[in-house]
Amino acid sequence: LEFRRVLFRSSLFDNAIEGIFRTTPEGQYLDANPALARIYGYETVADLARSLCDIRAQLYVDPERRTEFMRIIKARGLISGFESQVYRKDGQIIWISENARAVTDEHGVVQHYEGTVEDITERKLYEKRIEQQANYDTLTGLANRSLLNDRLQQSIMTAALYGTRLAVIFVDLDRFKYINDSLGHHVGDQLLCEMSRRLSSCVREGDTVSRLGGDEFVLLLNGLGEVDAVASLMERLLDEITLPWITQSGQFDVTSSIGIALYPDDGSDAQTLLKHADSAMYRAKELGRNNFQFFTEELNAMMTERLELETGLRRALERNQFCLYYQPRVDIRTGAITGAEALLRWRVSDQEMMQPGKFIPVAEETGLIVPIGEWALREACQQNLAWQQAGLSPLVVAVNVSLRQFQRDDFLQTVSSVLQQTGLAAAALELEVTESSVMHNAERLIDMLSNIRALGVHISVDDFGTGYSSLSYLKRFPVDRLKIDRSFVQDILVDKDSEAIVRTIIALGHNLGLKLVAEGVESAEQVAYLLANGCDELQGFYYGRPMPAHEFELLLRTNCSAKPD
Ligand code: C2E
Ligand code: CA
Ligand code: CA
Repeated sequence: LEFRRVLFRSSLFDNAIEGIFRTTPEGQYLDANPALARIYGYETVADLARSLCDIRAQLYVDPERRTEFMRIIKARGLISGFESQVYRKDGQIIWISENARAVTDEHGVVQHYEGTVEDITERKLYEKRIEQQANYDTLTGLANRSLLNDRLQQSIMTAALYGTRLAVIFVDLDRFKYINDSLGHHVGDQLLCEMSRRLSSCVREGDTVSRLGGDEFVLLLNGLGEVDAVASLMERLLDEITLPWITQSGQFDVTSSIGIALYPDDGSDAQTLLKHADSAMYRAKELGRNNFQFFTEELNAMMTERLELETGLRRALERNQFCLYYQPRVDIRTGAITGAEALLRWRVSDQEMMQPGKFIPVAEETGLIVPIGEWALREACQQNLAWQQAGLSPLVVAVNVSLRQFQRDDFLQTVSSVLQQTGLAAAALELEVTESSVMHNAERLIDMLSNIRALGVHISVDDFGTGYSSLSYLKRFPVDRLKIDRSFVQDILVDKDSEAIVRTIIALGHNLGLKLVAEGVESAEQVAYLLANGCDELQGFYYGRPMPAHEFELLLRTNCSAKPD
């Protein structure tokens, strides 16, 4: 029997894939199988038993694992799936998993431990890779959104416990899209990696730098004291990012916009802090980029209002809430109405009529100006046709067009199909482009304007005098009218500079064969001055405020009958 037991024991023991051991509580081997020697990198079992005589000090990478091992066995009698890092004979570190129990004498005193060892290094590496993929951004190796969320939640708990501050910082590279689109994704990726390194170099050990995707980074700074300290760190971040970035494709000067939200000052949960840091970052962009902004309550109110405006604006078209007001443009000599500028109004509710100054910027930013502008174009054309069909004297209706609309390749198509569909003669339509938008992208615009003008549509340059058009520039522009900006007209009688500018613009425009319109005319004195200086047409409250179509029609009828012809 004894013989069979030894035989059985020995084949199991010697041929097992798992390492099997028996050790003293002091940490010496009483027994080990060849698999254990192999796992630990020893030639033979004897070699192992000879070389490894203090498991605690020699085997475990963290000697405390031995204490933990003994503590668990003492408490439960056995241990299973106990994972630790250990040194092999050659110094290489591997991961093992142990199952073991204590063998005690009749008094309950531990005689030895016996158990098995499995090499789980590969599994650990695999787990780590999975974890890496789940928690880290593959391009930059920074924490990703999911890890950021975990850390943020953790940090909030810690900060709440110790009464410390926490900063959530949104960093967005300025004009990254431009670099990415013009130089290729390869360069864009390099830039992101470089910026990741720079951001990481500015923070401390326990802080988190993460990338949410695109060029959006979020930093999490723990245990902050004074707000001033955050501000000086932000200065450093801005400087670090602005350092020239030199690559094979050339040198780039990148800037960033940064928004900061603090716990507990600006929010008590992860979602709120992130949202507020994001709002603050948008504010930094609005303020001209390359700066940082702290979240404030006013900013919050602004953002909420802006969000509501945007939501409402998205639905305004389908709810039929837009309408056009018309403001007369008159011939300076006869006083006859020669044109009408169509000005957009938004009927937000029965009580509220919103002025374009408030919603046009949002419409432009969101691109909504494209469908809204097309609606205005069609509506104005229909209205003008209706007036003509009602027998009123012919006039030109002027529609404002945003750069966003002009930039689209299909804009020419839009204009010509609106004319076709409404049946209005092209010569009864005028498009107003602002001087500043004309300065953008000049070559393409010249083509576009020429094509539109070839249809017979008039073009005028709006808000003239506020941009920086040079004379030679203007010569090449296919336009019919210059509209002198209201700000100069307002001041002609009180400010010598404005007076000089208006006179110069009139002379310059006439030299180029253009008609001159003065905007914002409010008094008889202004009319007299403009008449004396040769201006052609006038528009302003003096002749009429922007008004609904039916009022404008009444005005047209009286104006017609007032005409002395
Ligand atoms: P704008 O094209 O310069 O339009 C003239 C603005 O000056 C109008 O403001 C008008 O009410 C105002 N105005 C006219 N005469 C006087 C005056 O004698 N005194 C004073 N103080 N103001 C006068 P409104 O209607 O609020 O429009 C503001 C701006 O919104 C327009 O400036 C234009 O840039 C934009 N806008 C209006 N409708 C449209 C549209 O359909 N599309 C686009 N893209 N922009 C539009
Ligand atoms: Ca205008
Ligand atoms: Ca204007």
